[in-house]
Amino acid sequence: MKKGKNLKIIKTINELRAELKNCTEGLIGLVPTMGALHEGHKSLIQKSVEENKYTVVSVFVNPTQFCAGEDLDKYPRTLEADALMCKTCGVDFVFAPNPSEMYKNQKNLTMVCPSFEDVDKLCGKSRIGHFDGVATIVAKLFNIVQPNKAYFGQKDAQQLFIIKKMVQDLNFNIEIVACPIVREESGLALSSRNSYLSEDEHRQAEKISLALRKVKEMFENGINNIMPLTDMVFAILDGMEIEYFEIVDTETFEIYEKTDIIKTGSTALIALRIGTTRLIDNIEL
Ligand code: AMP
Repeated sequence: MKKGKNLKIIKTINELRAELKNCTEGLIGLVPTMGALHEGHKSLIQKSVEENKYTVVSVFVNPTQFCAGEDLDKYPRTLEADALMCKTCGVDFVFAPNPSEMYKNQKNLTMVCPSFEDVDKLCGKSRIGHFDGVATIVAKLFNIVQPNKAYFGQKDAQQLFIIKKMVQDLNFNIEIVACPIVREESGLALSSRNSYLSEDEHRQAEKISLALRKVKEMFENGINNIMPLTDMVFAILDGMEIEYFEIVDTETFEIYEKTDIIKTGSTALIALRIGTTRLIDNIEL
């Protein structure tokens, strides 16, 4: 019913605020993205369109969440195609600012820094400052859009945990909606970074979800401590540059130690590199 609505592509904060002033008849949903939209993003967008009167999709490759030497410059930018997907989904506003619009104050920027305990592990361990950049841009988008609901993928499980915590700790009056991971038929989790993979690398990447499914299968067969699960994961991903395989308590994101008994509902997470491409995936047990 909402399809075919007039999509507006907005570049400035003032313009977006002016538009949203008129959006008083119902809920506003926000879907923050870095663009190069795929079916994973689409599932978040569709959920927002279903649940809200108005949907804002932000498309912004956020420089503050990239570390030195990462792929900021080569990150895919496909605004035209992104806007088309948003239009067919019934989105009202695509917010696609330039970096200078979002970061007028280039030096001595006020940042939102999640607790050290939450960032000094998993992805935060190798990507120093990444989650400060994520929390900062998401807080800025929350202040600009003032949505009722915001949609995040479980694909980025640590990010989702950190955002939920930020909302709680900083009293944002926003409901965070967690959306399931969308995968290719092969099981590989969709990611804008999959476009970097050669055919051969893609085939290797498919083993990540295979390993995670096997972890779940073994867990369901009664193996509830970390060592045999880790051994199996490293065997399946033999020869690959594994950054981490960990299982965490989904509520606290505390990492299970060797002797702990893993609880149902925990999350198993993998990060690895294939060539120069860093991929992450996870599964709930
Ligand atoms: P990104 O553009 O990579 O920053 O992602 C924007 C949002 O889309 C984040 O909340 C991601 O977790 C989510 N997302 C990315 N890939 C997927 C996927 N395969 N399934 C579900 N959500 C996803």
